[in-house]
Amino acid sequence: MMIPAALEAAQLIDRLDRLARGGEAAGELNPAQWEALRFVARANRFSRTPAALAEYLGSTRGTVSQTLIALEQKGHVTREPSPRDRRSIMLELTPAGAQALKHDPILALAADLEGAAPGQLEAVVEVLRRTLHAMITRNGGRAFGACYTCRHFRKGGGSGRSTPHHCALLDEPLSEADSRAICVEQKSESA
Ligand code: SF4
Repeated sequence: MMIPAALEAAQLIDRLDRLARGGEAAGELNPAQWEALRFVARANRFSRTPAALAEYLGSTRGTVSQTLIALEQKGHVTREPSPRDRRSIMLELTPAGAQALKHDPILALAADLEGAAPGQLEAVVEVLRRTLHAMITRNGGRAFGACYTCRHFRKGGGSGRSTPHHCALLDEPLSEADSRAICVEQKSESA
C-alpha cells in the first residue's frame, strides 16, 4: 500500500512543476525553448546534439528541430557541424543565450528550495536523483546524469592542469566544468 507521505510528495512535485511552467509561459521563451536552452547550457561536448536533446526531452526530432530554429533565430544557440563527426550537428550556447539564462524562471524555484531546505539541499537532490533513476529504470531511456556520478568517470585520472579527470568510456580528458555537465552516455554505478 502506498505510504501517504509518498503520495503527498508526488502531488507536491506535480504542483511545483505546473506552477514553474506557468512562470515560464509568461517569459520571453516558451517552456520547450527554456528546457532546450538549459540542456545546451548543461550538456557536455559529447551530448550537445539535436538527437540527444530529443532523447532528453522525450520528444520527436521534428519538434526539437522547430524549438532549435526558434532559439537560433533569437540568437541564443548556434547549430554547426560537429568537429568530431561532420555529419552530426553540434549545439552551442551564445553569449545572448547565457544572458537569457540569468533570467531563467526556474531560478525562482531554486531560490524557494534554498529557502525551504537550508542545509538539506544535498539530501533533497539525492532523493530526487534516486526517484528519477527509478522512473527511468521503469520507463526506459537515458539518465543524463552529471558526469562525476558516472561509472566511467575517473576522478584525478587526467594529465592536464585544465583537464584533471578522464572519461574511461570515450577516452577523453575532462575538466572540472565537464565533471559537472550532464552526458548522454552517463551511467551510474547502480545502473
Ligand atoms: S565519464 Fe561518463 S558521463 Fe562523463 S563523459 Fe564519460 S561517459 Fe559521459
